[in-house]
Amino acid sequence: MVPADHLLNFYIDGHWVAPEAGGSQREIINPATGDVSGCLAFGTTADVNKAVQAAARAFNKYSAWPQSQRNELLQAICAEYQRRLAEMAEAITAEMGAPLETLSRQVQAPIGLWHFQTALAIARDFNFDRLQGTTRILREPVGVCALITPWNWPVNQIACKLAPALAVGCSVVLKPSQSAPYSAALMAEILHDAGVPAGVFNMVQGEGARLGEVLASHPQIDMVSLTGSNAAGASIAKAAADSAKRVSLELGGKSANIILPTADLEKAVTHGVTAMMGNTGQTCVAPSRMLVPQAQLAEVEDLAKRVCESLVVGDPRAPDTFIGPIANERQYLRVVAMIETGVTEGAHLVAGGTGKPAGCERGYFVKPTVFSRVHNQMTIAREEIFGPVLTILPYTSVDEAVDIANDSPYGLSGYVYGGTLEEAAVVARRLRTGMVHLNGANVDIAAPWGGYKQSGNGREWGEWGFDEFLETKAVLGAAGV
Ligand code: NAD
Repeated sequence: MVPADHLLNFYIDGHWVAPEAGGSQREIINPATGDVSGCLAFGTTADVNKAVQAAARAFNKYSAWPQSQRNELLQAICAEYQRRLAEMAEAITAEMGAPLETLSRQVQAPIGLWHFQTALAIARDFNFDRLQGTTRILREPVGVCALITPWNWPVNQIACKLAPALAVGCSVVLKPSQSAPYSAALMAEILHDAGVPAGVFNMVQGEGARLGEVLASHPQIDMVSLTGSNAAGASIAKAAADSAKRVSLELGGKSANIILPTADLEKAVTHGVTAMMGNTGQTCVAPSRMLVPQAQLAEVEDLAKRVCESLVVGDPRAPDTFIGPIANERQYLRVVAMIETGVTEGAHLVAGGTGKPAGCERGYFVKPTVFSRVHNQMTIAREEIFGPVLTILPYTSVDEAVDIANDSPYGLSGYVYGGTLEEAAVVARRLRTGMVHLNGANVDIAAPWGGYKQSGNGREWGEWGFDEFLETKAVLGAAGV
């Protein structure tokens, strides 16, 4: 496990250093029990300044490394990450309650490694330098980057920014979620042991509103990349505006899952409910609005109830648990309030509801909940709940289903389940979202990740992740040189 002093210090310029004066400390809570599991230092402006200066000093040298040298470094990071994979899974379960066996070991921990492996594969072939007529087009690292990440897929979100940033030659300051400090500290240890040069990677832990503003307005930061809530995205964009720095935002979602009249209902509903409830509903692309033909509503409700009630809720360390606790108290209170809102708005409760699941009296547990006969203006259909709460909305024609799906301030992901893939693909083209999953398709680690509308403005993952961290330079009159 991460040593206690790595949570009370920050990783700056290749060392674990004590916080500057004026910081504070907060308890780290195990969401499965409510017990204190550790203590975390919260940094100040002075800590951020120190980290930014280290990153700025390191940038010139690191960005000038030949690509082959950076690829060797990525390879070393992959090897070190692989060696500590089991520890990473334990860290994620301890900090945010993801079920250890069914989620942390299967996806939450390895997905960070997959991003580094993908970045290495892309870096080996990426075209950083090409001639267009007599002009040479160079792709160069954008500079010193601030990475601000959430707690829900903690190491995924760190790695999907960090891997391309390091691959192309940026130096970074990471401000991870204060609700997921163990995996971030372990990531810092992995990078250190893999030989990342001093100053190329730096990490300060602490409160987002305070440190985020310092990073976003800092004159030596060239780019801020945030994954988080829309409120955090708006304040980062405002703080970054005066210095015109690049801002990449990956924000919330309220993704529609259109089940077409021709779909195999049993398969479609099973996929829809399970995908919604995975990671305890705390996934930005979760299919939280299930749109179903009015004529099949009763059958869908029966199926959804059966699937929902079959999902094992409980101790994230128990081997068969599928749904663990909500990750932290703030989020728990929000999910509880949204379930109460669904009841008071008059939605039909199909499964779950208020109160804690049996046997889960301690910790931040809620019942996986399905509301039906929801209309799209209800709060539970418009706002991101970010917990295991599914809404089912009936439609009378596919055109109406598309209209309902697109009637959202968000545009992160969409899902279409049809009798044939061809039919689903036609509907996919009509959705105003950055991703669409056909007939239960899983994520693709090399595909672009990001949203339309208020779901953000960035595209991460795969080669799109490289573009995020690159500048473009035109060298004119460069034929033959
Ligand atoms: P959050 O916005 O509270 O926190 C995210 C990060 O931003 C944390 O590090 C936090 O400390 C920091 N932060 C908070 N307020 C800030 C501010 N005013 N200025 C600067 N930084 C600030 O979000 P969360 O609760 O950690 O995560 C859940 C949210 O993240 C959901 O809305 C979810 O949809 C979104 N999310 C989006 C994606 C995506 O790829 N689009 C992926 C995962 C999560």
